[in-house]
Amino acid sequence: MSDVIKDMITATGIDEKVYELSTEILDGLKERFERIDRISFVNQIKVLNAMRDERFGEEHLAGSTGYGYNDTGRDTLERVYARVFKTEDALVRQQIVSGTHALTVALFGNLRPGDEILSPCGGVYDTLQGVIGIRPERGSLAEYGVTYRQVDLKADHSFDLDGIRAAINEHTKLIEIQRSRGYDVRPSFTVAQIGELIKFIKDIKPDVIVMVDNCYGEFVELKEPSEVGADMIVGSLIKNPGGGLSPIGGYICGTKECVENAAARLTSPGLGKEVGASLGVTRQIAQGLFMSPTVTASALKGAIFASKLYERLGFKAHPAGDDERTDIIQAVELGRPELVEAFCEGIQAAAPVDSYVKPIPWDMPGYDDPVIMAAGAFTGGASIELSADAPMKEPYAVYFQGGLTFPHAMYGIMLSVQKMVDKKLISW
Ligand SMILES: *Cc1c(COP(=O)(O)O)cnc(C)c1O
Repeated sequence: MSDVIKDMITATGIDEKVYELSTEILDGLKERFERIDRISFVNQIKVLNAMRDERFGEEHLAGSTGYGYNDTGRDTLERVYARVFKTEDALVRQQIVSGTHALTVALFGNLRPGDEILSPCGGVYDTLQGVIGIRPERGSLAEYGVTYRQVDLKADHSFDLDGIRAAINEHTKLIEIQRSRGYDVRPSFTVAQIGELIKFIKDIKPDVIVMVDNCYGEFVELKEPSEVGADMIVGSLIKNPGGGLSPIGGYICGTKECVENAAARLTSPGLGKEVGASLGVTRQIAQGLFMSPTVTASALKGAIFASKLYERLGFKAHPAGDDERTDIIQAVELGRPELVEAFCEGIQAAAPVDSYVKPIPWDMPGYDDPVIMAAGAFTGGASIELSADAPMKEPYAVYFQGGLTFPHAMYGIMLSVQKMVDKKLISW
């Protein structure tokens, strides 16, 4: 059996050595993958039972047009989301165009002039800097008189509790916690770590709103930040919770007050959640949520496989192969631009869409250095699908995520190594 498989895989252009090393890595991950499957099992049941409890039915798949009044499918799916994330309410809409937009709606809806945002984990995600006005942008929160303060992490990446205590003042209205590392060097924060931080903050100021940017974190652990004290969690449907099937969208789950505030901003004051036609997309959003626990597990396995394989080849992985995970992002420090390009070419060549395209670095708006991206997704820009990107600068780290199925993720990673072998950039 294994010889037949080996012959079939090497016939696709994978060297025997790349194949052997990959299967060896895979064999060593059995227990780890079993643990991921168990978490995925719990999360699958969580989603399934939320649908059963809300009596999700065929009539909910139809969708609405125009204003979208009385769209019971949309409303029921929002209650399903609220149950899954154990929140009072949820806003789950295709009118939310991206993760950044979801965060924007949550922030603008819940902040008023004179309020202050505090980020206790150092800098916020790149696009949010423009939203908040840390980087001046038209229409930012800063233009509306909302101020921002941040407390950097300590050198060992732990929270600076004294600094956070000192930074909280009478204007502090909202705390922004980013679960995933984004393009930062710090590690991602586990749900338990986030829970401890929230407890510390709420002891100082009980009425402050804690918002967690949950992008890339959904269904990686047994619990979500909303179960450890977050008032609001926010994310994108073309990442984990969309399960690769949502064609667009974002969610905001949280207290009734926070979600109503956000809804008044997404649509209009006085209209809130009552309007917003689902245009027949409810089916994909619901099915995507249903698929998400296993899709997220596949992406997670891909990330761990990549970290282990590249560590074996002598590179530094963040998180390291053996580290516990709270999101699906994997960074690998490759150290040389040629290796970054080869990595991305391999991922691109393994894509179901645009496999024949060669990724090249380009001057992307908003970035100081050229960026190279590998993506061949069914949904434009969806990063729950196998994708990689890297700013072309020291330490030449590539950020890798996604994979709707583990076999696809694994093969993509094998091809990335194969490209390096083909170009004689690594030798054995
Ligand atoms: C992806 C991401 C965002 C923004 O989402 P977009 O859909 O790219 O706008 C915000 N925060 C984090 C941590 C993310 O990973």
